[in-house]
Amino acid sequence: MAKLYFHYATMNAGKTTMLLQASYNYRERGMTTMLFVAGHYRKGDSGLISSRIGLETEAEMFRDGDDLFARVAEHHQRSAVHCVFVDEAQFLEEEQVWQLARIADRLNIPVMCYGLRTDFQGKLFSGSRALLAIADDLREVRTICRCGRKATMVVRLGPDGKVARQGEQVAIGKDVYVSLCRRHWEEEMGRAAPDDFIGFIRN
Ligand SMILES: [Zn+2]
Repeated sequence: MAKLYFHYATMNAGKTTMLLQASYNYRERGMTTMLFVAGHYRKGDSGLISSRIGLETEAEMFRDGDDLFARVAEHHQRSAVHCVFVDEAQFLEEEQVWQLARIADRLNIPVMCYGLRTDFQGKLFSGSRALLAIADDLREVRTICRCGRKATMVVRLGPDGKVARQGEQVAIGKDVYVSLCRRHWEEEMGRAAPDDFIGFIRN
């Protein structure tokens, strides 16, 4: 049976590159893939998925209220779809995650979702919460903090270069995200003293 996968990580972990590579692998073998990307913060009707290393591909956009099962089923009826890819899956609605599960369960097409687990305040996104709950296969895409530990959290730097501690879940603009381990994230968010002040528990 086909599965619903969730590849999750922090920002800048190379998720989109992985997605594009995996889709390419299908297409290279003459198979058809359908790609979706969140349209919430994009204008127009065409969504371009582009990775930091320069790969890019056209994708369909999903927005709140869209029925992803219906869209894939309709395409699949016309011509077979072999795998569905979803980038920015953190923006899916809970119901849309269930639709993706049905694509796997009823159409027998694997669905590969890629997205962020948490926002800059350490809270789950709606799509990530639902995927963590019901996906068949959870895969962490690893990246590292400046200290070399695994980065599981992200901070947002505003235009002034300072770490944002409050604000909207998603900022549109030139904000920069930095992936950190949990310990350094707490320090940057002002929730725990920096290492230097905790000398006695060092190590
Ligand atoms: Zn660290």
